[in-house]
Amino acid sequence: MSRIVYVNGEFVPEEEAKVSVFDRGFMFADGIYEVSSVLRGKLIDNNGHMVRMNRSLNELDMAHPCTDEEIEAIQHELIKRNNLDEGLIYLQITRGAADRDFAYPKDTKPTLVLFTQAKNVLGNPIATKGISVITVEDIRWARRDIKTVGLLAPCMAKMQAKAAGADDAWMVEDGHITEGSSNNAYIVTKEGTIVTRQIGNEILNGITRRAVMALAAKHDYKVEERLFTVEECHNAAEAFITSATMFVQAVVKIDDAVIGDGKPGTISNQLREAYIAEAMAEIAD
Ligand code: PMP
Repeated sequence: MSRIVYVNGEFVPEEEAKVSVFDRGFMFADGIYEVSSVLRGKLIDNNGHMVRMNRSLNELDMAHPCTDEEIEAIQHELIKRNNLDEGLIYLQITRGAADRDFAYPKDTKPTLVLFTQAKNVLGNPIATKGISVITVEDIRWARRDIKTVGLLAPCMAKMQAKAAGADDAWMVEDGHITEGSSNNAYIVTKEGTIVTRQIGNEILNGITRRAVMALAAKHDYKVEERLFTVEECHNAAEAFITSATMFVQAVVKIDDAVIGDGKPGTISNQLREAYIAEAMAEIAD
């Protein structure tokens, strides 16, 4: 079924959408993106995604194609035109089209693309089962705080996971977990402390992470934002990931180690429920 997508000022059927072969997103991965989830036709935590989008643009000295309000209007129009009830909206901004040159060209018009994707976010069957992950070396660049479209390393990590019969990969640098291939990673120690890596250039500052950290504080969980090792993962009582489209998702196996009793843990389940309750409250307003 054909979607209506948005490209540089126009809403067009996906088959008619065009971007230049000279686009720097295509040639240099010179672009950034955001993914917001949609529930009951409404955007979840979109303000956070807008703030991070602007930060990514500023960090790369990239022009803003339009205002946040204009982007939000496009998002709402796409939800309407595609009759999207549940799923996600993808947004990408690149530096635009110019003759190939490593140096940033002056005054190119940024490319803006948005599209919707239907997805069973709330009732995803994996949510109750939990996922398995393997640990792999983190071979990404050193500015993972910028949400660029240069995603080949996480694609390779995901393929490594698939080949090993696992659902996803957690990436490791100098013996410590950075994050999941497309999500933030957490463990819960046997003492009940939630541990996740501190924010820095080494990981993406997840919008869902921030919301879940606030929920953990509200529920009086002990949280430590620090480095943690692969060994700590293997000995964890619980583990989970967060992302805009997975919310809070329990991890039940890390490499060969079964986590807890092999089922989603209590804290993981509570945080997932609390996050969904908050999202539902947001869209009920
Ligand atoms: N880390 C990485 C590497 C990601 O790709 C993502 C998802 N885009 C996240 C973390 C989670 O971020 P968010 O909660 O904003 O989706």
